[in-house]
Amino acid sequence: MNILRDQSLQPYNTFGFIQSAEYFVELKNSDDTLAALEFCRKKNCQLTVIGDGSNLVVADNIPGLTVRMTNKCVDHHSDGNRQIVTVDAGLNWDTFVGMMVNAGAYGLENLSLIPGTVGAAPVQNIGAYGVEIANTILSVTCVDLDTQEICEMTVDDCGFSYRNSIFKQSSSIRGSAIRRGIHTPRYLITAVTFGLSDIFSPELSYEALLRFADQNALPAGNAAEIRALVIAVRQSKLPDPAALGNAGSFFKNPELTGEQARKFRASWPDAPCYPGGNGQYKIAAGWLIDQAGWRGFKEISGDVGVYDKQALVLVNHNSEHAEKLIKLAADIKSSVQEQFDITLEQEPRTIP
Ligand SMILES: Cc1cc2nc3c(=O)[nH]c(=O)nc-3n(C[C@H](O)[C@H](O)[C@H](O)COP(=O)(O)OP(=O)(O)OC[C@H]3O[C@@H](n4cnc5c(N)ncnc54)[C@H](O)[C@@H]3O)c2cc1C
Repeated sequence: MNILRDQSLQPYNTFGFIQSAEYFVELKNSDDTLAALEFCRKKNCQLTVIGDGSNLVVADNIPGLTVRMTNKCVDHHSDGNRQIVTVDAGLNWDTFVGMMVNAGAYGLENLSLIPGTVGAAPVQNIGAYGVEIANTILSVTCVDLDTQEICEMTVDDCGFSYRNSIFKQSSSIRGSAIRRGIHTPRYLITAVTFGLSDIFSPELSYEALLRFADQNALPAGNAAEIRALVIAVRQSKLPDPAALGNAGSFFKNPELTGEQARKFRASWPDAPCYPGGNGQYKIAAGWLIDQAGWRGFKEISGDVGVYDKQALVLVNHNSEHAEKLIKLAADIKSSVQEQFDITLEQEPRTIP
């Protein structure tokens, strides 16, 4: 295990900000993980976990030890009913989805091309085009940073909901040996086990997907075709972080009660509003931001702004640090609050 000092985090930050970690280490296996925890305990320094940095705003240099899982094994077998796949946290998510489509293990194809690692995917219960990762997870293997024990969480233990899970929460037991950053969650995910189907059943309930398929004469008859369709839609709508720094959707879609949604729709009948489960309704955050006049906005220096094809995506044109982006996000939040009396919640985590 090679602990590096003052390591740049620019490669692990899709906004492309220039930031560094006081100490940084890649964890390939459980021995590395235990050694990293021991390092933190001895130095009494805080621990921060990152993946590919596609859902992070790194606001400053990160003190203490920053770790990143790089284990990449996949174990795949059938139990007669389902394909059981255990995959290490460090594997790239989209590489994994591609492998499963090729292997005839179905259920993840709508989640194609989401950036990031397998280990980060349960953290916000990644979702797209009518599918959430929670639909296919059987269990998550993690290290409890408070007790330093390995634990196996069943899907019910994970507390999955819309862009949320127990892995986002930062509650701590007293007397924990490891100091965690204020927002660092309690569990370090080392592997995820999925139950995938060997019978292909297309999920095409998301209207925009079918519309795009029709307009572009793209077939959607098998999993490989759905994967290709999802990739094409995403590439047409979202900026490639390699060309224009971003973290995908910057705000979650606000959830309203039935009564709140009824009042909202009375004032804004054109607003996209759809059932979100548990009697709640979701309002499209991108629509709110667009209506508030932010789509295509560029901050006065031109360094950061709002993507011109999708108001939900904040972009870094030319800024070395996150300060201006954080200010822009706060301005957008206040203007939506003022105009619609709706509070937007940021999706990417800001660290430290
Ligand atoms: C262009 C673009 C499009 C996107 N589209 C979508 C989308 O359609 N749907 C969607 O849900 N998200 C989307 N995202 C967000 C992002 O891709 C996902 O949230 C992804 O899972 C983040 O993975 P990561 O490895 O980059 O994690 P990071 O951004 O590095 O970390 C995210 C969080 O996970 C924690 N974390 C990372 N690894 C671990 C681990 N091993 N154990 C415990 N905690 C960990 C971090 O501490 C942090 O809190 C998009 C982002 C971009 C840039």
